[in-house]
Amino acid sequence: MSALRVGLTGGIGSGKSEVSRRLAAAGAVLIDSDALAREVVEPGGEGLARIVEEFGEGVLTGEGTLNREKLGSIVFSDPEKLARLNAITHPLIGARSAELQEAAPEDAVIVFDVPLLAENGLESLYALVVVVDAPVETQLERLTSLRGMSEEEARKRIAAQATREQRLAIADRVIDNSGTLEELAGQVDRLWADLLELRS
Ligand code: ATP
Repeated sequence: MSALRVGLTGGIGSGKSEVSRRLAAAGAVLIDSDALAREVVEPGGEGLARIVEEFGEGVLTGEGTLNREKLGSIVFSDPEKLARLNAITHPLIGARSAELQEAAPEDAVIVFDVPLLAENGLESLYALVVVVDAPVETQLERLTSLRGMSEEEARKRIAAQATREQRLAIADRVIDNSGTLEELAGQVDRLWADLLELRS
């Protein structure tokens, strides 16, 4: 029996974290891209030191942590600077991800939570791609009422991502998260049972 690698994706506010939390509780090994991206720029690490070398002390907060907003304002309007940032962080994220995979049991179901899986064309890295799907109106409702985002900001972020259709086109399995959390839990239970079967 060998490990089963599952890619989990979905638009912002679609419910990826809810799904990955439930899969982890069921026994999956979770590798969360966003968490790794934060980890590799923690104070004291090589990543943050190299970012400061590249972009200057101005990208630090008073406490010496990374000022993401400041760094974002530098790189997001300049593809060349963004590429330099990615050249620092991506290999560190890759190395940490490899470490976590090696530490997982041989027969693990490894779930990779990758928000930009479709945008970056990463589907071939996984035995199975699971897409958490919700209507844009539901995403908006969750982002504004539960996350305190303005509707304008939420719409902007949704528009910057792949469309629902683009994501569904690469899905081997779709979790419909347009309903209640209870309905979501039922679908995750069925998915987990199928993943265990696929693994063997
Ligand atoms: P992001 O891309 O921003 O990380 P996400 O896809 O991980 O978002 P979640 O954080 O899982 O999304 O969900 C967004 C919010 O909506 C959370 O507060 C979550 O608890 C809530 N939520 C998710 N699914 C449901 C649901 N079916 N019913 C009610 N609330 C939900």
